[in-house]
Parts: sequence; C-alpha cells; structure tokens
Amino acid sequence: LSDKLDKALHVLKGHGSITEVNVAETLKEVRRALLDADVNFKTAKEFTNTVKEKALGQNVLTTLQPGQLMVKLVKDELTELMGGETAGINLSGTPTVILMSGLQGSGKTTFSGKLANYLKTKKTKKPLLVACDIYRPAAINQLHVVGDQIGVEVYSEPENKNPVQIAQNAIAHAKQNGFNVVIVDTAGRLAIDEAMMTEISNVHKAINPQETIFVVDAMTGQDAVNTAKAFNERLNFDGVVLTKLDGDTRGGAAISIKSVVDKPIKFIGTGEKMDAIDVFHPARMADRILGMGDVVSLVERAQEQFDEEEARKLQKKIAKNQFGFDDFLNQIQQVKKMGSMKDLVGMIPGAGKALKDVDIDDDAFKGIEAIIHSMTPKERTEPAIINGSRKKRIAIGSGTSVQQVNQLLKQFDQMSKMMKMMQGGGGRKMMQAMGK
Ligand code: GDP
Ligand code: MG
Repeated sequence: LSDKLDKALHVLKGHGSITEVNVAETLKEVRRALLDADVNFKTAKEFTNTVKEKALGQNVLTTLQPGQLMVKLVKDELTELMGGETAGINLSGTPTVILMSGLQGSGKTTFSGKLANYLKTKKTKKPLLVACDIYRPAAINQLHVVGDQIGVEVYSEPENKNPVQIAQNAIAHAKQNGFNVVIVDTAGRLAIDEAMMTEISNVHKAINPQETIFVVDAMTGQDAVNTAKAFNERLNFDGVVLTKLDGDTRGGAAISIKSVVDKPIKFIGTGEKMDAIDVFHPARMADRILGMGDVVSLVERAQEQFDEEEARKLQKKIAKNQFGFDDFLNQIQQVKKMGSMKDLVGMIPGAGKALKDVDIDDDAFKGIEAIIHSMTPKERTEPAIINGSRKKRIAIGSGTSVQQVNQLLKQFDQMSKMMKMMQGGGGRKMMQAMGK
C-alpha cells in the first residue's frame, strides 16, 4: 500500500501548483492502492470521494502548498476511517469479564495472554485466564504455558466438555479468589460454521461480558472483513484486535473493518511474545500506511534524549569557531543514546522503506570514535595541524588506514562549515546536520 500511495502522493508533494485533473488522477491512484491493500470497494470509493470533496471545499488548488494539504487530508481521513481516537477497554464490573472470539489461528490464545500481562503490569489488575477451547487437546495446555510465562493463573476443567459451564465456574472461582478480570479464551474454527457460532453465542449470553473482543489476523485481508461481519452479527462485539501486524505492512484490514462493522480497533498484536501488544493509535497507523514513518515516536524519543543544555553550549562553540573533534565525539554519543541506528532510520519519513534492506551497522561509529581517540587533545581542537606523519600515527593507533583518517577529516571539515552556516538553528537542526 505504502509504495503506491507514496507514488500517488509524490505527484503532489513538492509541486507548487496542481490542477483539478491532478487531484482526480491522484485520488484514482489512492483508490487503486487501497483496493490493492484489500480495503473493500465501497470503503475505498467513499474514502476518495470524501477526500475529493474536502480538497475542493478547502480550495486546495489555491493554497500555497497544495501537495502538503492533500497529504494531510488523506492522512486525516484515513485516521478518521480507523476510528479517529484511541479506544479504551471497559474495565467495569466485579469482576470484569472479557470474552475472546475469532477464527482458529487468529491469535486468541496469544492475545489472551498478552492482555492479561498488559492489565497486570499497566493497570495493576489481577487477571484470571480461562480455557474454554475444549476441542484441540493441546489448546488447554497452550494457555497454561502462556499463563506460566506471565505469572497469571489459568482456570481449566480438562474433563468438562461444556464451555458455558466452564466459563460460569471460572467466574465463580474468580469472585471467591479475588480476581478482578476474567479473560475467557474460546475455541475457533478454520472457517465460520454454525456450530461454532452457536457455541460462542451461548457462552456470550451466559456470562454477559463487559468486553467481547473479536480477534483477527491482519494478514487475511478482505476475508478479515467478512469474518468480522459474521461475528458481529452474532455477538455485537465491542472491539477488534488486529494481530500479526508485524508480519504484514498492509493496513487494509484496519481500514475496512472499522468502517464495515463500525467497531473500534482497540489493540494490535505485533509479535509472538507476550509483550508484543500495542494500544491502537489510528493516527499513527495512518502515518505508517502513508509511509511517513512513525514521526511522532521519533520526535518523542529525540526530545527525551537530546540535552538542550548541551545543545546551547555547542551552539556557542560553533559561533566562535571552536567546534572540535571532542565535541564531535560528544555528538556521536548523543545520537547513540537515542537507540539503535536501524530503529532510528526506520522512523524517518521515507527512509524506512528505502533503507529497509540496507544493513545499517550500529558499529558504523566505531571507526570514527577510534580515530578521534587516537588524536592528541591539541589535534582534536585544532585539526588543521594534522599533517601526513600525524595521520599515519593516528591510523596505526586506531587500527584504521590513512585513507579513513583523511575521509573523516574531510567530513569533519564539511560539517564544520555547514554548522557555521546554520548557527542560530536549534539543537534539532544540528542533529539533522550530524545525521547527514
Ligand atoms: P488461536 O487459535 O486464535 O488461539 O491462535 P493462537 O493464539 O494459538 O495463535 C496462532 C499462531 O499465531 C501462533 O503461532 C502465535 O504464536 C501466532 N501469533 C499470534 N499473534 C501474533 C502476532 O501478533 N504476531 C505474530 N507474528 N504471530 C502471532
Ligand atoms: Mg487458541
């Protein structure tokens, strides 16, 4: 999806002016991209119509940066389609009863564990997991393994073949033993069938849960929408969990499900481990779909780690032309504090895709650091004195080559000039320069 949308929006980005034909062409591309990502036809059509209306309503064509406004409109509309705001989970009731529904393999058992773990650690709740998948012999055992992993008790009755009874007994057990959340994991089938629907409806009626969650594999595309519809008709569920978003970058399911069943997506699953659970943020998802990278996270992280005081000191030095290799070393350390290079690059708009397959070495800085460490203090503050014999000494000392030393000196020189040029800019501008 991202590739196509990128291409479509690229037409608009960076163009000073666009025509009505351009808008129509672009939206046609956007629609095609949505369809390719398994967004259902009606949703995609409505989506592009709405964007078009808004674009014309806001006089996109006469604004200063029409491309950017279009990107914003598409993004806002996508966000809206996926629910707009983050939807919380209803934790009322003593105990809160949460019922899992969904096809076999969608990730119900895994998500039951993740949710129990999330509620336990984030909301200081005392959850109980309940094994109501009585058909596959390994299913009860699987939930026990999950429970052991996260230190949450699992209620099961291996001999009992009646899931309604098991669920009711579990709730009684929870009340007697101080559990305030009961998470009921159920059986699924590979496809929708009447027996399964009847069974889950019966459990649903008997325990009257505060939250009925529909779990769906994001990789199943258009099928996910049909399944959601069928389950919603029987259960009128409260929220959706999209699993396996780690393995699939297509956002199609997220976009259509909300608009077809009009229920919020509450969580996403991003891996097999128990902590691979995230609250669903429609705006961030829209960003990802549009290939803008998770800019919000990047900025948050940068703000956390970048020391403003340090930045001010540095700026002074640059202004006075006193920026030396020690300061450079310091900067590298600042950047490294922000996390792995690969993570950071992945969050930069556009770069994530372009550099996806490039192996970004977290040790990329090591050679540079070694070279600087091999310089004398005087050489660090006055790089100009580094002549041929000094270069040779530094290369040997750092285990690099004279060529590498030369390269660093040249880069440093260019960077100093660039910094001088943009002195007055804040710390973040500086960081950008360093990045280049
Ligand atoms: P259930 O049949 O609905 O209970 O599904 P399971 O919880 O047993 O999950 C089926 C498979 O999907 C298992 O191999 C899980 O490890 C895997 N799985 C579940 N959630 C995720 C996820 O978010 N990401 C990935 N990569 N795998 C997942
Ligand atoms: Mg299961």
